[in-house]
Amino acid sequence: MSVTGPPIAAVRPRGLAVRGRLWPGGGDPALDDAVVVVGADGLVSAYGPADGVHLPDGVHAIDGAWVGPGVADAHAHLAFGSAPAMLAGGVLAVRDLGAPLDDALAVRDPHGIPAVVASGPILTAPGGYPSRSWGARGFARFLGSAAEAHRAVVRLADAGVDVVKLALEPADGLPVPPLEVARAVVEAAHDNGLTVTCHAFTAEMVARAVDAGVDELAHVPTERLPTHLVAQLVLDDVVVVSTMHALVANGDAEAADAVRANARALVGSGVPVVYGTDLGNTGIAPGVDAEELALLAEAGLGPEGALRAATEGSAAVGGLNGVHQGRVRVGERARMVVLAGDPVAEPKNWSTPVAVVHGTEVTQP
Ligand SMILES: [Zn+2]
Repeated sequence: MSVTGPPIAAVRPRGLAVRGRLWPGGGDPALDDAVVVVGADGLVSAYGPADGVHLPDGVHAIDGAWVGPGVADAHAHLAFGSAPAMLAGGVLAVRDLGAPLDDALAVRDPHGIPAVVASGPILTAPGGYPSRSWGARGFARFLGSAAEAHRAVVRLADAGVDVVKLALEPADGLPVPPLEVARAVVEAAHDNGLTVTCHAFTAEMVARAVDAGVDELAHVPTERLPTHLVAQLVLDDVVVVSTMHALVANGDAEAADAVRANARALVGSGVPVVYGTDLGNTGIAPGVDAEELALLAEAGLGPEGALRAATEGSAAVGGLNGVHQGRVRVGERARMVVLAGDPVAEPKNWSTPVAVVHGTEVTQP
């Protein structure tokens, strides 16, 4: 497993080629011994069986056991990690869901590697979650009325956020935005071309989120959802971001059971459950989280379905959509990870990527 050939700078005009088992994602079949050719423009120009392909001198060649699109984490807090640490662990796109606005805009880098998009502060009731806990210093923005909610969302949109995060968290008696305020958040976000992802753990709060018209739940809920609510999520095309490892590790046994049961019910009903780690919680390290992939597989997706949920699935959420494709396709910009082994068979292969390919740039994290 090594990068071979002349120095990168000398060969960039000729492009590069990556050899190994190719998992192109997007539902296309894997190819055992493949070559992916990246042109000097940084776009994937061809891929197919490596057998019989002769690479001319001057083409930078990378040999790995496995090549694929790299993971997108749809729920992270880079305030408690870093973009380079995510990249070093095979994550090529990150959606930061909660940070003070200036910090969020500072880490935001939609064209970088990893691509980083951000929500800025979490919208909540005055004094609400997370303003009295981990998010005390600027992570929360208070909405006292529907009119204030509207103004807050317009200001965030004007500032350049990629998605809106709403919290409906009544734990410890904290105030929660009422339905009309949640609705105003969703209307203002949609009017400004943004989607809303919502923190809601209980059935009552999930019902409020659905009534308000949110696009996503930012977590698999920790209270068992009634069947009619799961059906409503299906009908309303709501996407659910997983974050199960953090919830199972930090919650009580009852919450952990509810998370697993909800995930099975959501997957079984056809609700898209996509990969996100909630990086920032105790026990969640930057990089691809093998336990999160295992929990997605157990929820009914299987190992390959879990990888799809972590690539094309999570790449399709609001903010990441269009930034990172989560697949390898001819004509699209090369954003690939090269690993020393097949991560579908062994997710721990994510922990030490051989190389990351971004256009014609090659980095060895
Ligand atoms: Zn979070």
